[in-house]
Amino acid sequence: MTTQQTFLAIKPEAYSRGDATGIITMLSKLLPDAKCVAMKSYQPSEALAKEHYAALSDKPFFPELIESFTAGSILGMVWEGTNVVEKAREAMGATDPVAAAEGTIRKQYGKHIGDNAIHGSDTDPGSAEREVKIHFPEGEFNEIADPAGKSQELCQAAA
Ligand code: UDP
Ligand code: MG
Repeated sequence: MTTQQTFLAIKPEAYSRGDATGIITMLSKLLPDAKCVAMKSYQPSEALAKEHYAALSDKPFFPELIESFTAGSILGMVWEGTNVVEKAREAMGATDPVAAAEGTIRKQYGKHIGDNAIHGSDTDPGSAEREVKIHFPEGEFNEIADPAGKSQELCQAAA
C-alpha cells in the first residue's frame, strides 16, 4: 500500500460534449480517499499523442487513436492516493463501454471503444509515472480542493 500518482484525462469527444465536470464529480465520489493534484486543459500535439500511446503503435487502430486524441482539447489531471492507479482503473470501467460495469465512468459517459470518455494510466510498473512526466513536465503538484469546480472554470474559459 503505497501512495501513487496516476494520469487521468477527459478525452476530446467527452470534453467537447461537455461531460468533463460530470465525470470529475464521479471520480471524486468513486475515489474518496484520493486527491486531484494537477489539472489543465490543452490540445495534445501529434508528437505528444504518439509518445503517450507509444506502447500501442503496432495496433491496427493506432492511426484512429492518434487522430481522436489530437482532435480537440483534453482535460489532463494527476490524482494521488493509496493504490490510486488501480482504483482509478476500477472507477473508469472496461475499455469497451459496452462491457463496462454499471456505476463506472465509461458505462455512463462512453459511447464506443474509440470514444470511451476517459483515459487512465494502466497498472504496469512505471506506466503512470511515465505519463505524469509526459503531460506535466513542470512537475508542480498541489491539492485541488474542488476538482469538479475547477474543471467547470477551465471548460468555461476554453469555450
Ligand atoms: N482502443 C480502440 N480499439 C481497441 C482497443 C483500444 O480504439 O480495440 C482505444 C480505446 O479508446 C482505448 C485506447 O485505445 O481507451 C487505449 O487502449 P488500451 O488498451 O490502453 O485501453 P485503456 O487502457 O484505455 O482501457
Ligand atoms: Mg491503456
